[in-house]
Amino acid sequence: MSLTVVGSMAFDALETPFGKTDKIVGGAASYISLAASYFVQPVNVVSVVGGDFDQDHIQLMHERHISTEGVQVKENEKSFFWSGRYFNDMNSRETLVTELNVLGDFDPVIPQSYQGCEFLMLGNLAPQVQKTVIERLHERPKLVVMDTMNFWMDIALDDLKETMALVDVLSINDEEARQLSGEYSLVKAAKKIVAMGPRFLIIKKGEHGALLFHGENVFFAPALPLEEVFDPTGAGDTFAGGFIGYLASTGDTSFENMKRAVIYGSAMASFCVEKFGTERLKNLTQQDIDSRVQKFVELVAFDTILQ
Ligand code: AMP
Repeated sequence: MSLTVVGSMAFDALETPFGKTDKIVGGAASYISLAASYFVQPVNVVSVVGGDFDQDHIQLMHERHISTEGVQVKENEKSFFWSGRYFNDMNSRETLVTELNVLGDFDPVIPQSYQGCEFLMLGNLAPQVQKTVIERLHERPKLVVMDTMNFWMDIALDDLKETMALVDVLSINDEEARQLSGEYSLVKAAKKIVAMGPRFLIIKKGEHGALLFHGENVFFAPALPLEEVFDPTGAGDTFAGGFIGYLASTGDTSFENMKRAVIYGSAMASFCVEKFGTERLKNLTQQDIDSRVQKFVELVAFDTILQ
C-alpha cells in the first residue's frame, strides 16, 4: 500500500562520546524513508532542501525507490541544519544549533502521483506544515502517524495541538510526553495526550524501548541490548519508518498488528544506532532484518505457569 512521508531533509553535525562529524546527511524524512523502503516501495517524500544538498544522497534514495518528486530544491538557499551533542549515557542529548533555512517558509507541494496514498507519515517539522500536508491530500489516508519534538512544543504548541487532533498515531519520546502533558507518570501522560486527539500513542524511551497505548491496552517493546551504540541520531525517525512501513506493507491497522509494527520499528532503530547518520540504513538485506526481529522475539519470549 502506498506511503507518503513528510519531514526534514537536513545536514547534521553530531558529537558523541565516540567522536564528531562534520555536516552529514540527516533529517527526519531521510531516516524515515530509508527505513520504510525495506517494507514498501515506492516511498513518496515531501520535503525541501537547498542547492547545497548532497546529490549522492538523492541518488541513494532513488536507488531505494524513494520518490523525491515532492522534494523542492531552493537553489539559492541553504538546507536545514541541526547540530546536537550526546551525553555519556547516549540516551539524552542537547541541541546546539537549529538553523531552519529552507524549512523556515516551507510551503509543501503534493505531486499528483502522491494523491490517494493510504498511509501518511508526518515526520518531524513545523506542525503547521504537517497540517497543510493533511489538508492538501484530496482523500484522508487510512492511517496518519505523526512525530514531533520538544523544539515545536516550545515555539508552536498551539499549532502542534491542532495537528495532533487530526492524526491517528502520535510518536514522541518520554521527555516530550512529560513536557506535553505536564505529568511525570507516563501512564497519566498517555491518558492526557490521547484525550488531545490521537487514538494510538507511542512513547519512545531510547535504550529502554517503547510503549504503545490504545484505550486501556498497553504494549511494551524493548530496545535490543547492543554492545555499542555509536550514534542514536535518527533512531526515533527510523523507528517511525519501520513502524509505518510495516503497517503499510500489511495494510492492517489493528492494535494487534501495531504491536508487530512496534517490534519492526525497534529492529530498524537498532540498526540505525550502529553507525553515524544514515550509514547503516543504506544496504540492509531482508535476512538482516528477519534475524534482528527474531532476536526481539527471543528477548521477550518466556514460559510461565500461573498458580
Ligand atoms: P531523532 O534522533 O530521531 O529525534 O531525529 C534526529 C533528526 O531530526 C536529525 O537528523 C535532525 O536533522 C532532525 N531534526 C532536529 N531538529 C529538528 C526540527 N526542529 N525540525 C525538523 N527536524 C529536526
